Amino acid sequence: MKCPKCHHERSQVIDSRSMHDGSSKRRRRECESCGHRFSTSEVYGLHANDLPLLSSRLRKRGGHEEDFDSNKLRVSIDRACRRRKVDAAQAEEAFDQVLQAVRDRRGKAIDVDDLARWTFKALLQVDRMAATSYAASYMEWDTPEEFFRYTK
Ligand SMILES: [Zn+2]
Repeated sequence: MKCPKCHHERSQVIDSRSMHDGSSKRRRRECESCGHRFSTSEVYGLHANDLPLLSSRLRKRGGHEEDFDSNKLRVSIDRACRRRKVDAAQAEEAFDQVLQAVRDRRGKAIDVDDLARWTFKALLQVDRMAATSYAASYMEWDTPEEFFRYTK
């Protein structure tokens, strides 16, 4: 992140906080050369210039659509990870990965089942039990057998 004052290439993050909706992060940085302090704002894992995911639509079962809410996604991931030894950085990585998949749709409506699958896959790489807990809470199953086959 270039210093806006002296254009030095390197700066250090001195403070970092999440926006209340969980979709972006604000960082305080200090230039390593001149000591100038400045703020940057970024969507998790992405630069703030890449915002199309915030206007994505989510298609629910039954067909009605609502705005994709990254905060709900965040909450579902945090909930699945809560009782497991998943550190915040790993949970955030899973979150980033799903956001990236949402972004790859470039504003096209997303099926809620696709979103759930992406989240399940991202969580699988972090912790199998967290992924299973997610699948049990947030995905719909006709039979227990179907669930066990999926999460095996
Ligand atoms: Zn500077």
